[in-house]
Amino acid sequence: MSFPEKDFDAPANKSLVDEFGRHHTDLRISVTDRCNLRCGYCMPLEASFMSQQRLLTYDEVARCANVASEMGIQTIRLTGGEPLMRPRLYQLIEQLTQLPKIQEVALTTNGLLLADQAEGLARAGLSRLNVSLDSLDEARFEKIARRSGLQRILEGLEEARRQGFRSIRMNAVSIRGLTEQDIVPLAKFCRTHCFHLRFIEFMPLDAEDAWSREDVLTGREVRQIIEMHIGELSQIKGNNPGQPSIDYTYVDGSGIVGFINPVSQPFCDRCDRLRLTADGQFRNCLFSTTDWDARTLLREGGSDEELQGLLAACVGAKHFSHSIGTEAFQRPSRAMYQIGG
Ligand code: SAM
Ligand code: SF4
Repeated sequence: MSFPEKDFDAPANKSLVDEFGRHHTDLRISVTDRCNLRCGYCMPLEASFMSQQRLLTYDEVARCANVASEMGIQTIRLTGGEPLMRPRLYQLIEQLTQLPKIQEVALTTNGLLLADQAEGLARAGLSRLNVSLDSLDEARFEKIARRSGLQRILEGLEEARRQGFRSIRMNAVSIRGLTEQDIVPLAKFCRTHCFHLRFIEFMPLDAEDAWSREDVLTGREVRQIIEMHIGELSQIKGNNPGQPSIDYTYVDGSGIVGFINPVSQPFCDRCDRLRLTADGQFRNCLFSTTDWDARTLLREGGSDEELQGLLAACVGAKHFSHSIGTEAFQRPSRAMYQIGG
């Protein structure tokens, strides 16, 4: 990837345009670092979690979201940890959907608690659901997630459909030597049940620090496996540029499968995302090594103006690229479940 010159004409004020001209319209909000699975690419087996006191309250989250929306954020995705483990998440969704400048509130979940909560989520106004699932075989699921629960996730998917969620996306992480056998069954399942499946390359954000470049099963390799076993794929042109996924349809016309390739094909040049961690820290990248502390500001009586200044500083410091695979790359000290994927 070539690094462009910084655009010094970009507004140096409180807008969410960074020095490379990228407009930020999407805010990922983590609501907890707790989880009911222990996926090896994300969490340690024995984790210690943030204290209740450290977590932002729903009112604090909504205030940050409102300030961010006044600066240009239009869409919000709730994540974690496992967001459905945060009690009464529907109440936060109700608060966020009422913000006048927020067009869409989405959720990424492992689906374990979805069967019980799908109705409340739909009633609260949640627009979209992404469900992460790496295997359709219980033993293999347990090997990857290091806990059981496949049947409950499948029930959750069914219930989500029943509650009217339409364009449900499924996420599967691709790891060499671990997930190859799951690719074809997942792709067939999603094609049959009309779920939009997306394969995500393994990123160096695992808590156990085991990631290596060789472990990354690239989107290209996954696509070849699908084409060999299921059928030819054709790239869909004119994808939404803010979407990191490169989407394909089967040439016979049924089903969409996408590839999110942050390692082999970084999409930093069109990144439109900012993040708020469960403990109230703004971050400008998954791989950021710096936090911008909104929680302290909120709890010390900071004004909306000051929060805007903090967010502007966070955007202003954004690097052009995550630099994975180069000498410049520095692993963040937080793992994925502590940031929010
Ligand atoms: N617990 C929820 C879930 O699993 O969907 C939400 C949080 S999880 C951190 C969000 C997404 O990040 C999931 O789709 C998960 O597969 C993905 N993920 C976690 N660790 C990853 C890693 N090291 N590389 C790539 N994707 C990862
Ligand atoms: Fe939990 Fe999601 Fe991380 Fe798996 S990927 S351990 S489900 S937070």
